[in-house]
Amino acid sequence: MRSRKCGIVIQVVSDKSTSLLIGLLKQTANLFLLGGNLLQVNLVDHSKSFVELVIQPNSIQSVRLVFLRGEDIPPRFGIKVRIRTQIGAGQLLGLSKNRPSDLHLRTLSDFFTISGLDCDPLVKTDDGCVVWARRVIQSETFIFIGTRFLDDVITYRQGLSTNVQSESREKSLWGFPNERANYLYEGVAEPSRLYDRQADWWSWLLFESLQSSLAVTRCIELRKPVQYLVVTGDDDQADLDMYERQQRLLSGIPTTYFLHPLTKHSKRSLSILSRTNAEIELGLHPDALEQPTEYERLFSQQIDWFSRLVGSMPSSIRNHGFLNDGYWRHAQSWLKYGVKSSSNIAGLDGRIISNSLLPFPLVLDNEITNHQSIVTAFGDGMVFALRMTDNEASQRVIDFSNDMRRDVSDGALVINLHPQNVDSTPQLHMAIRQLVESGFVPTTLTSLVEKFEPSN
Ligand SMILES: [Zn+2]
Repeated sequence: MRSRKCGIVIQVVSDKSTSLLIGLLKQTANLFLLGGNLLQVNLVDHSKSFVELVIQPNSIQSVRLVFLRGEDIPPRFGIKVRIRTQIGAGQLLGLSKNRPSDLHLRTLSDFFTISGLDCDPLVKTDDGCVVWARRVIQSETFIFIGTRFLDDVITYRQGLSTNVQSESREKSLWGFPNERANYLYEGVAEPSRLYDRQADWWSWLLFESLQSSLAVTRCIELRKPVQYLVVTGDDDQADLDMYERQQRLLSGIPTTYFLHPLTKHSKRSLSILSRTNAEIELGLHPDALEQPTEYERLFSQQIDWFSRLVGSMPSSIRNHGFLNDGYWRHAQSWLKYGVKSSSNIAGLDGRIISNSLLPFPLVLDNEITNHQSIVTAFGDGMVFALRMTDNEASQRVIDFSNDMRRDVSDGALVINLHPQNVDSTPQLHMAIRQLVESGFVPTTLTSLVEKFEPSN
């Protein structure tokens, strides 16, 4: 159904952040196009004050995207640009003719306001200043972006590296002594709006602005946002009959199991498990909780062990205990062994910690890596760590899924149900089935990430 023909030509440029910008554009197009348009992105011009790209879906059409970086821009754009400095995040409105209401957006840094004749506003401040604008110049459409799109999207998705230095940050959560990644996101989302999807909304708005300026459309089956569901289970040395019970409850729904180094599984039991469900993915559940500083060495050993047991390298991981090390330092080990995906940020009760319900490519040292990550929005820890009843927890998942269905953007819900806990969470398992019946597309973590992988 989803043929991937979205080929994008990337021009190599010396400016690292411009290359990164083009790479993330490519990823944004892939996030939402998912279906067969040829799109080329090329650098036209850049200076300290702007980066101008041309997007061409075919030889007839094109649109210019101009990312503003300063006030000093060439007269040929026909606009005036002023910086708006501020304390804290800027509240902005994303406008659209195709949506019932405006998107409530937040930019995390200073931004630029734009004035000029015939500027069609795409993003405005609440006092009416234009921040993103569309303008036709000599029959070519220009889209001016007055926010720091790149910085916003990366910070929303990956958190603040400066939080690592701060001693006051709470690095363990919910009574678990080890460091979790959640503190990286403190100060990013507005405390009263922890369920916003700012990273997805900014990306969506950029895509929508392009889409409405060009005859680039999603294929018919993707006209409405698509919602995916990924059920995962951390092995945690569960009894093998628990796997059997869980699979009976899930009744063929794709499942990603992360195998702990001390799993009770053998080659034989894994082969039996794979016969109960054609779509079981096996990933690694690295355990370094006893020696967090030895992660790299333990990971390497556990990768060896995994490939001997399973017969292939893992392409997905989640650390045992959602263990984290500063600003994505575990990713070095993941990248070294070609692990494509992780779901190692814990939302637990639906908090959208990474401000995104889509897999995002990890950006490290200003370069896009081959690793994608997505928040684990829910876990059965709702019942154990947060002391909700199984019923309350499943209702929380259902309510959340209804909100997802109303969103402008595609989304993917990752939910972690330990096989060992299956007898305490039958309603949560029923909720999963209900989601699938209501149209969520179930998939494994690696299949999800592959759908969103930027094509080369
Ligand atoms: Zn675990």
